[in-house]
Amino acid sequence: MAEETIFSKIIRKEIPADIVYQDDLVTAFRDINPRAPSHMLIIPNKLIPTVNDIEAEDEATMGRMFTVARKLAEEEGIADDGYRLIMNCNNYGGQEVYHIHMHLLGGRPLGPITVG
Ligand code: AMP
Repeated sequence: MAEETIFSKIIRKEIPADIVYQDDLVTAFRDINPRAPSHMLIIPNKLIPTVNDIEAEDEATMGRMFTVARKLAEEEGIADDGYRLIMNCNNYGGQEVYHIHMHLLGGRPLGPITVG
């Protein structure tokens, strides 16, 4: 059984977060340390530690993460200018919180992908 992270507490609203969307499969909230004018995290309600742990049964949830990203980008007014979706995996990928999350970043030109 994977260990819960702070994101499980955000999903259950046990700690404060700026939640912008929630349904039966996913939750989205603003990143506490925004790297762009719009920076949100879209996460599955189910605890999946890394992209390596995604199972076939999670496909609907993964799809929902993308449709919610699209909806939030539209609502945020960044859809036409464009934005970036990022999922980091494990140590080399720079993952810090072991509950998968899709970063939605936009609101300014982000330039080419940079690696640290
Ligand atoms: P990653 O490096 O891909 O694991 O990204 C983790 C992200 O979670 C970082 O961008 C953090 O700023 C963000 N984060 C960590 N704790 C919180 C929190 N309590 N509320 C909102 N965002 C958080």
